[in-house]
Amino acid sequence: MKMKYDTVIGLEIHLELQTHSKLFCGCSTTFGQEPNINCCPICLGLPGSLPVFNRRAIELAVSVALALNSAVQQKSRFDRKNYFYPDLPKGYQISQYDQPLARGGYLEIEFDEESRRINLERVHLEEEAGKLMHAGDSIFDSSYSLVDYNRAGIALLEIVTKPDIHSGREARLFLEDLRTLLLYTGASDCKMEEGSLRCDANISLRPVGSTALGTRVEVKNMNSFRAVEMALNYEVKRQEEILSADGHIIQETCHWDEEKKETIPLRGKEGSSDYRYFPEPDLLPLTLEASFIEKQSALLPELPRQRRVRFKEHYGLNGKEATLLTENRTLGDFFEAAANDYSDYRNLVKWIQGDLLYQLRESGKSVEQIEPGLLVELITLLNNGNITRPVAKELLAEMVLSGKSPHKLVQEKGLGRISGQEKLLPLVDRVIAENPEAVENYRRGKEKASAFLVGRVMALSGGRADPEELSKLIKGKIS
Ligand code: ADP
Ligand code: MG
Ligand code: ZN
Repeated sequence: MKMKYDTVIGLEIHLELQTHSKLFCGCSTTFGQEPNINCCPICLGLPGSLPVFNRRAIELAVSVALALNSAVQQKSRFDRKNYFYPDLPKGYQISQYDQPLARGGYLEIEFDEESRRINLERVHLEEEAGKLMHAGDSIFDSSYSLVDYNRAGIALLEIVTKPDIHSGREARLFLEDLRTLLLYTGASDCKMEEGSLRCDANISLRPVGSTALGTRVEVKNMNSFRAVEMALNYEVKRQEEILSADGHIIQETCHWDEEKKETIPLRGKEGSSDYRYFPEPDLLPLTLEASFIEKQSALLPELPRQRRVRFKEHYGLNGKEATLLTENRTLGDFFEAAANDYSDYRNLVKWIQGDLLYQLRESGKSVEQIEPGLLVELITLLNNGNITRPVAKELLAEMVLSGKSPHKLVQEKGLGRISGQEKLLPLVDRVIAENPEAVENYRRGKEKASAFLVGRVMALSGGRADPEELSKLIKGKIS
């Protein structure tokens, strides 16, 4: 009989904190600049230079730890993690080892309509390495590499989960929810494509029912949440095949190959003894006053999960609607501002999730650029019968593009609803005269033919004719 396996996954997430300067020096953190201009003796590790803490980085790190329910330590310490690699100008990285900034914690995620708690190991601060650019298509066949130290020394937050995740999809959902939370805190811009959010995954299998952890493989170089899911699914299959054939998993570090869609062994896994950790002699232990931690806690915004619950209770939204509006802090802010002036909340959500989001995507604008009051104005024009639905949709597109008031647009362009027999009848008569076949079809019992005729009149009127009145008029005329 074939043995069944459970999947066990732990993630290590690296996050560039949004500070203006690096973690231990005053160099700028601006992305995308000319290589090697944001460097100084401190981040290059030149003799005689001394690191100094960046207060803002510590504030952001503490706020993220608190948002993740992680216990912030009043005393933590920095260590040197020694290794030689061209992206590391000093030959060591200042990191935290056995006394991290925060211990434990968790994030609750929604998984198949159920709430799952993913526990965390720790949250700690360290410095970013430089960036290597390999000539050629891949690291394996490149003949040389270029190095850019602009990134070296930027404040990085590492979040380590317990081996608490049980599928590639769950890992992806965790990352998506984590990203949402991090964006709420404003600690990072979380751009995976720019490398400000990165994730390494450790994965092992074990026979169902066993509690001991299996041998793990570490996967790196996944550049999107989708890639994380694919790489982990790939590893599950690969490890399953080996174990099913009585083989052994080798503990190693792999590279996800986005082209080939497979993991490729990079090197044997280094143990922590390879890093020769020792306390950073140039920095005092980090001591945080209880009042400092309390202050960061008080400054935290309402977090996505709390907000989701509140939106459901206060506005009577369903789970899907509340999730949509809280996935993005500014979208939720927009909704709340609009809901201040308009009390049919479900209808408001429908407009936001349908037409508004569509028009934002089409125009490349972001929701912050739209005045919430304008959407309310538009819906009110429709509700009061001043405009028809097709005109409302058209106006929304214009409103998003130009930021103009729908009310003004209606006046300027003469887009008000056309109703009343005296205005509609001439249009109806014309369409009936021009479409004898459709009229004939309707008389023979084809209901659809009347919709066609309504459509023709609508087109003639530029979408402004009252569709219900129109439908009655046409049916009355031809039946
Ligand atoms: P490292 O020395 O690689 O930093 P850690 O002990 O810090 O190792 O663990 C790194 C990550 O790997 C954590 O997220 C942890 O939960 C996860 N992990 C550890 N052992 C296993 C295992 N056997 N299977 C899956 N994940 C694991
Ligand atoms: Mg680790
Ligand atoms: Zn510097």
